[in-house]
Amino acid sequence: GAANILFPAQVVRDCLVLTSHHIEAQDIELRCDLAPEPCVLISRTELQQVLVNLILNAVQAMPDGGILSLLVRPGEDSVEIEVEDTGDGISPETLGRIFDAFFTTKHGRGTGLGLSISQTLISRAGGRITARSTQGKGSRFTVSLPEVKTI
Ligand code: ADP
Ligand code: MG
Repeated sequence: GAANILFPAQVVRDCLVLTSHHIEAQDIELRCDLAPEPCVLISRTELQQVLVNLILNAVQAMPDGGILSLLVRPGEDSVEIEVEDTGDGISPETLGRIFDAFFTTKHGRGTGLGLSISQTLISRAGGRITARSTQGKGSRFTVSLPEVKTI
């Protein structure tokens, strides 16, 4: 889609509307810290697609509940959007493969395309996605996009 100048904080809220169902179906506490000002240049629907996927992955990693933290933070010349969970975590061996197309550990219930497509969409917008995880403690995905300075 065409790129729009947008506030990631608003897109995160839109994504919460789209996923609240899944979040509320489990015993998940939501924590948000969304800086309102910074802007990025990316297709709104594409950023939504990426963030919905990250949020649903986080929810699926917390079948017994936990904490979902969403954060928008201004960086140096970038804006960082973080989706963090206190779920199962990812082993170091698996972590190197999660962005591969069709890689899934969800036994027929996942396509394994979410992170692969997300990485493509974010890199086309000049950004990147990184993942950190500690097995048994949780995972944090960070989307970093160039900040658009408006006056
Ligand atoms: P899918 O969700 O269809 O499996 P994704 O590309 O979204 O495909 O994710 C690939 C794999 O990365 C998942 O199957 C899972 O093993 C791992 N993964 C992604 N996000 C998380 C997370 N928040 N916690 C634990 N594992 C994750
Ligand atoms: Mg997924």
